[in-house]
Amino acid sequence: MNKLLEISGLEVGYGGIHAVKGIDFHIGQGELVALIGSNGAGKTTTLKALAGLIAPAGGEIIYDGSVLNAVPAHQRVSMGIALVPEGRGVFARLTVAENLLMGAYSRCDQAQINEDLARMYALFPRLVERRDQLAGTLSGGEQQMLAMARALMSRPRLLMLDEPSMGLAPLMVKKIFETIREVAAQGMSILLVEQNARLALQVSSRSYVMEGGSIALSGVSADLLGSDAVQRAYLGA
Ligand code: ATP
Repeated sequence: MNKLLEISGLEVGYGGIHAVKGIDFHIGQGELVALIGSNGAGKTTTLKALAGLIAPAGGEIIYDGSVLNAVPAHQRVSMGIALVPEGRGVFARLTVAENLLMGAYSRCDQAQINEDLARMYALFPRLVERRDQLAGTLSGGEQQMLAMARALMSRPRLLMLDEPSMGLAPLMVKKIFETIREVAAQGMSILLVEQNARLALQVSSRSYVMEGGSIALSGVSADLLGSDAVQRAYLGA
């Protein structure tokens, strides 16, 4: 499988705090990879470094054959990297439709933007009824849908999702994960950060487990799901 993203020796810190301590991992074209681990393990920090929101202190991020370390965040969006941040980050005072158009800000292909808008409304029918509603008044689950749809409007090749299940009712989590599967089935490469380890291992093909800023375990998700160590540490067995 061709590697779309390859990270080697990635180190990220906040002042004196060494949050990510030299990790290696990769994502193949069209692969859904999960990054799991307990609170404070460094998962969000890793995503921020990949999106260009925080500069790495060391190591290399290679995307589609190019070194990304010095590429600014907005340029990474144009290169096909989209992040759906923890807590969604929708523009509360803009409508659903306006939020979606903001997702396409790096594009100028108007006809295709309109096509993609129609695709997003087909993927998330709930957003159609609410297209003129202010995003800040949507429910948590609807905001998660909008944040995903907005990211997809940039036509990413790599979609990064930070804790999509956070704070959502079980039915909404099910719906969001069905959509993640659907998007993955269309061939998009996805990096999923998730506290709900069971769900993440069920939906992904491979996973990395982070602990204290390092990768403690990695492998085929189905194998990790069945392993005693993972069962005990992350699945409450
Ligand atoms: P969670 O699931 O709780 O969000 P995480 O695995 O995503 O955890 P990070 O948010 O990446 O973990 O945090 C990794 C470490 O970096 C933690 O010790 C955290 O306290 C620290 N950290 C994160 N953001 C900052 C910041 N802006 N300033 C200082 N330290 C930070």
